[in-house]
Amino acid sequence: MEPVAECLACDLLSGVRPLPGGRLAEWSGWVVEHSVGPLGLGTLVVKPVRHVVHVAELNDVESAALGPLLQRVAAAVTKAVQPEQVYVCLWSHANAVPGHLHFVVQPAVKADMARFDAFGPALQMAMFREGAVPDETEVEAVCRRLRAVLSCSLDEA
Ligand SMILES: [Zn+2]
Repeated sequence: MEPVAECLACDLLSGVRPLPGGRLAEWSGWVVEHSVGPLGLGTLVVKPVRHVVHVAELNDVESAALGPLLQRVAAAVTKAVQPEQVYVCLWSHANAVPGHLHFVVQPAVKADMARFDAFGPALQMAMFREGAVPDETEVEAVCRRLRAVLSCSLDEA
């Protein structure tokens, strides 16, 4: 499928925009990347290669892969970051317009919970308000660990 103009997810897939850490995995119509947003180090994005904006429009192959993939990505984040909890959420609604689906797989770590005195959606909102994007060198380093864990786990699938 052709990339869609003015879609950040498509731009990161096609390489039009730089992606710190690079592509971490590709599996059954899905790709895994480190988030370019302010949700902290080790926060990954799981998105379809196709420009799909509604979960209801996923095809059979994408749907069948989704559960196992999210579980494996969450397990990789757990192993690499050792967080208190791993949030898995999907909003994909930018400026009230449905956008390219991207599940966010976010390690919730004690340091962020303490710094913002928040957890869950309130923690995410506080992190967005602050808008601090993780250091690129640190992203590259955590991605090296995550890529190794993910490739083992997806090869076994
Ligand atoms: Zn797109």
